[in-house]
Amino acid sequence: MSGARPPADPARARASLAAHAWPVPLLAALARLAAGGHRAYLVGGSVRDALLGRPDGARWDVASDLEPAEVQARFARVEPTGLRHGTVLVLEPGAEIECTTFRREAGYRDARHPDAVTFTDDPVADLARRDLTVNAIAFDPLAGELLDPFGGLADLAAGVLRAVGDPLARFREDALRPLRVARLAATLEMEVAPATRAALGQVGGRLAGVSMERVRDELERMLTARRPSRGLELLREAGLLEAWLPELAATVGVPQNRWHAYDVWTHSILSCDEAPENDRSVRWAALLHDLGKPGTRAERDGQATFYGHAALGATLADALLERLRMPRAARERIVTLVREHMFDYRPEWSDAAVRRWLRRVGEDAVEALFELRRADARAHGPERRSPQGLERLAERIARVRAATHARSLRDLAVDGRDVMRVLGLPPGPRVGEMLSALLEEVTEDPAANTREHLLARLAARASGHDPA
Ligand code: ATP
Ligand code: MG
Repeated sequence: MSGARPPADPARARASLAAHAWPVPLLAALARLAAGGHRAYLVGGSVRDALLGRPDGARWDVASDLEPAEVQARFARVEPTGLRHGTVLVLEPGAEIECTTFRREAGYRDARHPDAVTFTDDPVADLARRDLTVNAIAFDPLAGELLDPFGGLADLAAGVLRAVGDPLARFREDALRPLRVARLAATLEMEVAPATRAALGQVGGRLAGVSMERVRDELERMLTARRPSRGLELLREAGLLEAWLPELAATVGVPQNRWHAYDVWTHSILSCDEAPENDRSVRWAALLHDLGKPGTRAERDGQATFYGHAALGATLADALLERLRMPRAARERIVTLVREHMFDYRPEWSDAAVRRWLRRVGEDAVEALFELRRADARAHGPERRSPQGLERLAERIARVRAATHARSLRDLAVDGRDVMRVLGLPPGPRVGEMLSALLEEVTEDPAANTREHLLARLAARASGHDPA
């Protein structure tokens, strides 16, 4: 938690919120919502994070008694994000505001969405349908009015996440809530109240109703925490890994060898903690890098071995990330890191071997791969060792780079137009394949990267005399 402890006392909390530097466009939007005798409150993460002294989120959470159509009529740019449930996104210059109509909810047959939403003009009824007490505090900065009907201030001061009402019932209504709890426990570094914690795993068959995109979003936010392991352990304890991340569930309790103090699961989540907070793909890769260990474990001379675990892990990570609908570029980057994490540099590598390795890993993934290696090494045991040999490889790469003229297709002495002209090819994938073949050759032998030589190679191909 950053800053001072948030005040449990309502008068001090009100004073702290009144003194908060709310952006002027946000205050103007609240005034516009309230015009004509209406009510508008900041709620949710906006109030919670201000009290915690945490940086403001990307979007402000506001609740008001205006119905969506009335909100739309008051602002120039409004996107209908969840009209049926009374949510619209107000896009004012300098403030994005998620604006919901005060509402009560009932039903939840699909375990994600209420069957019936009734709008109300009672802000306390609206706070009652929110997930956690610390998210059920409302503040109106214009009137200086604070609403805290469920003891959210006290819980915030004590660092406790507690469901509003009966935790079991609340989690059965919406199976995303346990995941939100785990995410917030990690990002806010808070404890979960015992009854709320005990209910986290009691959602049963309702998990299937949660969309994978929402699961991914929550996990991605969890991975921005200083220590994601906190939230991940809650998921494990609640039995929620099996439902959403079965490949990770399979690592729990898998023993390692004498170089490791922890089982594969614990090593994975500690690696994730050790990865840089601001690089999400390294965080994901650290969490997933040993997914292949359960499936490759073998005992040799009384020691566990995991031959081929990086390749199997890459396949499993790919499937896991695809299931979470991770965008392709991010997925490929993470999978590459998992696949390549076992690199074992030796000074006797030839320059060509270094260049081949660089091409396979990708020039811009090298730094991320080093970060992954550091995180992995530090998570072997309590002594948090540093990895060996990275500096030597970094120096070697710098030397090879300085001595190499062609590292990518752009650096070749010929280009796609030459290929099309000499081979009489139309634009298309064949052109790229030809260039890649030339780059391969030049990687082995940098001296081959001259225009004369490469044109001659192409001409040889064109006349069918290519010896290769
Ligand atoms: P963040 O910092 O990620 O924005 P947040 O708690 O504000 O965290 P939002 O998704 O912005 O999360 O939701 C705003 C508020 O809406 C929450 O604080 C909570 O009061 C309520 N809320 C969000 N999701 C749920 C849910 N699944 N069930 C009940 N209440 C929810
Ligand atoms: Mg929010």
